[in-house]
Amino acid sequence: MESALGVIGGGIVGLAVAYKLQLRYPDKKIIVFEKDAEIGMHQSGRNSGVLHCGLYYEPGSLKAKLAVSGIRQMTAFCREHEIQHEICGKVVVASDEREAGFLKNLHARGTANGLQGLEFLTGAALAQREPYVSAKEALLVPEEGIVDYKAVMQKLKELILARNGAVLMGTRINKVVEGNNEVIVSDGTKEWKLDAVVSCAGLHSDRIYRQFTRQRRPLRIVPFRGEYMMLKPEAKHLVNHLVYPVPDPEYPFLGVHFTRMISGAREVGPNAVFALKREGYVNTQFSLKDTVDAVTYKGFMAFLAKNFSFSMGEFYSSINAKAFLKKAQKLIPDIKMEHFVKGTAGVRAQAMDARGKLIMDFNVIRQGRQVHVLNAPSPGATASLAIADYIISEYIN
Ligand SMILES: Cc1cc2nc3c(=O)[nH]c(=O)nc-3n(C[C@H](O)[C@H](O)[C@H](O)COP(=O)(O)OP(=O)(O)OC[C@H]3O[C@@H](n4cnc5c(N)ncnc54)[C@H](O)[C@@H]3O)c2cc1C
Repeated sequence: MESALGVIGGGIVGLAVAYKLQLRYPDKKIIVFEKDAEIGMHQSGRNSGVLHCGLYYEPGSLKAKLAVSGIRQMTAFCREHEIQHEICGKVVVASDEREAGFLKNLHARGTANGLQGLEFLTGAALAQREPYVSAKEALLVPEEGIVDYKAVMQKLKELILARNGAVLMGTRINKVVEGNNEVIVSDGTKEWKLDAVVSCAGLHSDRIYRQFTRQRRPLRIVPFRGEYMMLKPEAKHLVNHLVYPVPDPEYPFLGVHFTRMISGAREVGPNAVFALKREGYVNTQFSLKDTVDAVTYKGFMAFLAKNFSFSMGEFYSSINAKAFLKKAQKLIPDIKMEHFVKGTAGVRAQAMDARGKLIMDFNVIRQGRQVHVLNAPSPGATASLAIADYIISEYIN
């Protein structure tokens, strides 16, 4: 019988892993299992569409390494397969002295991570690039860009299928049993015998780890919804490229920013609101299981206690459009409520430890013939091809 490798999850990380497994093991059958009817229905299809080049991440961390090599691979992949993308650069804007200090640290981080062309802009240079932006200091990051991640995922799927792989939709894996020389995965109706399985289950990664390995979860996924507004066509001229605030270094969230999407639309957001459902894309959606799972976790209570005003501020920006507008006006004061229409939302699978610390770096664990991607937050889409290489070289042999 043909030997096979499996991947749970048809988001961008799962598809990238399957694609790279196929290149590495051309004689094996590669099978992707996706519970939904389409690929990329969750984080990968609901993000900002930005190519991050490695500005923010702790030098030496997995994120820093994989973002830098990931953006190169992703742009090369897009060039090769004629997928729409553009290295348009972004400006990171400090609004006061405190943020100007953080911006200097970011410049140092980016330089340590090997970024090219970082440059503090003069007032005139900023005005030429982004005339409506108000800044105390502005840092140009010329290597960042925008891309159509849905098109990237479609292409990955197409390549997997063209090389005799399979992408099985509507296939929720609910049982994994380790044998002596194989691992058997099942969706309750059918079984697949595999040499190894890689779980890239995004918002469900921690539960899947517990269920399939019977080990305690070393961390907990806490869902943070990110909500967007769109700019109406008459306000599009207010943003030319990508305009970001200086993020608070305590959090993995980048703050409400302006994004020129690859379609030409202008998006504003996302905030970072604790979601009462892991796949809850509007603030009225609620899951008892998901909410109980989060609020009974001692890490979550420790997080809330330490970050109460942050959490409330983000929650307020979800229920009060004026609070959201205020965040946007910090960067572009001319933005007005009448420029907004409601946009989409995504939910971040953010790992947290038992002390309430948000885990910034990517996290992967192997247990027998199972490899689990436990934390793949932003820039997981940019870095997906590099994450796949890392998993294969470190965990599949
Ligand atoms: C609001 C937001 C903005 C972001 N902006 C950016 C950005 O601009 N640039 C960037 O690089 N990154 C960004 N990110 C991060 C990026 O989107 C993620 O890092 C990346 O999409 C993670 O991909 P994934 O495949 O791990 O997860 P997902 O895309 O969530 O995919 C996981 C898949 O697993 C499936 N699944 C789960 N359980 C099972 C099961 N039992 N059986 C079968 N299938 C299962 C799910 O249905 C899902 O399709 C953003 C994220 C969010 C939420």
